[in-house]
Amino acid sequence: MKIVRYRINNEEPKYGWMLDDKVGEIQGNIFGEYRRREAKIPLKEVRLAAPCEPSKIICVGRNYVEHAKELGNEVPKSPLIFFKPPSSIIANAEHIILPPQSKQVEHEAELVVVIGKRGRNIIAEQAKEYIFGFTIGDDVTARDLQKTDGQWTRAKGFDTFCSFGPWIDTDFDASDAVVTCRVNGQMRQMASTRDMVFNVSALIAYISSVMTLEAGDIIFTGTPAGVGELKNGDVVDVEIEGLGKLSNPVKA
Ligand code: ZN
Repeated sequence: MKIVRYRINNEEPKYGWMLDDKVGEIQGNIFGEYRRREAKIPLKEVRLAAPCEPSKIICVGRNYVEHAKELGNEVPKSPLIFFKPPSSIIANAEHIILPPQSKQVEHEAELVVVIGKRGRNIIAEQAKEYIFGFTIGDDVTARDLQKTDGQWTRAKGFDTFCSFGPWIDTDFDASDAVVTCRVNGQMRQMASTRDMVFNVSALIAYISSVMTLEAGDIIFTGTPAGVGELKNGDVVDVEIEGLGKLSNPVKA
């Protein structure tokens, strides 16, 4: 099932589900008890919001060998994790805003895991039970500030630097999916999720050994090689084969 959050006019976003190009409301808790209404609202009559409201956005650095190399880094021996703040979230079709503090803002195309229930010290063999579904993400990064700051909070945390969506697919098989990033139609990144250093189950085990994961939390699983600069007026499309496409225009 494809889960969305959508607005009609300027109402508060509601959870919904998608069937072809129609949306139906979901009443109740998408992570618990809920009821689905008939999908009859045409997609073009709604505006999609980011598809869930995470309490935490956990990201994984250097999880593809070729990407670690392109920035002159070693592949870490255990996952390298960091946060983005929920205030950085934008939805499909919303603008990525280039902040004046940075001269080098870059895209990072990523598979994103959505957690479905609370868990701590989850073992890798049981990690699948905690996955609600998958979505598509762009971990927008001020590369120059990432290098100068050491801590990545500023480089990764600007408003509009966390795009994910357009929906969550609860049936997606993420074990061997091709992730691509195009800027103005030109290919920048392409790799399979099979090339991850630490797979999704290993990441959930590692992260939950540190912190409690809550339903709705999201994990950005790292980006393949080919990260590159975004300029005013660009359009960045992150696509995951079989899952969908996330598109954002860029402005200064
Ligand atoms: Zn990233």
